Amino acid sequence: MNIPTVLLFDIDGTLISTGGAGRRALELAFGATHQREDAIATFKLGGMTDRAIVRQGLEIIGQPPTDLAIAMVIAKYLEFLAIEVPKVAADKYVIHPGMTEAIAEGKKLGAAIGLGTGNMKDGAKIKLQRVGLYESFTFGGFGDDHEMRPELIRRGAQRGVKHLRVPWTEARVVVIGDTPHDIAAAHAIEAQCMAVCTGGFTRQQLTEAGADWVFETLAAPGAIDVMLDG
Ligand SMILES: [Mg+2]
Repeated sequence: MNIPTVLLFDIDGTLISTGGAGRRALELAFGATHQREDAIATFKLGGMTDRAIVRQGLEIIGQPPTDLAIAMVIAKYLEFLAIEVPKVAADKYVIHPGMTEAIAEGKKLGAAIGLGTGNMKDGAKIKLQRVGLYESFTFGGFGDDHEMRPELIRRGAQRGVKHLRVPWTEARVVVIGDTPHDIAAAHAIEAQCMAVCTGGFTRQQLTEAGADWVFETLAAPGAIDVMLDG
């Protein structure tokens, strides 16, 4: 690793899969606040920020997506997430191949290891603590930072370069993600995107979306080297 590097890991579909706990907690939150567990039934959540998901759900059920309305659903979601995450069977709640090794290798070589996720920070903590990964990340850009993914990725990158004590212009920023949203957000801030096929998108879809690199998983030969050295 010749250039100071910030790594920003997406959570869902990239670092881990939670066996549907996130969607279930959101359904329960809409049920508790609006008696409409079906609010998010018609769209895919991958790559969306928590606030954007809740906004869309509120619009679908005809409720004004005010800041207060969004905050109320999110608060319930976090309560339900803490209940739903421990319920998922161990074989459904998984760290994806190569992720633990990628974090360890990046750390060893002095990269700044952060999160770049649409999850609220408290939700990220609940999801990652179950598999012992939360403490691996000392900073991040989160759903609390911004509803739009490029902006929260920007915040994560800013925090990362601060850790490295270099100007942004001297650092390399790599987003590791599983959806076209991750790729678009990375490119919006002139970062690179390493895409993995563990979140439901295919190699072809991620290539067409403009990923700088696509690997089935980070356990593929050479993937971690590319992530760290370009
Ligand atoms: Mg994802």
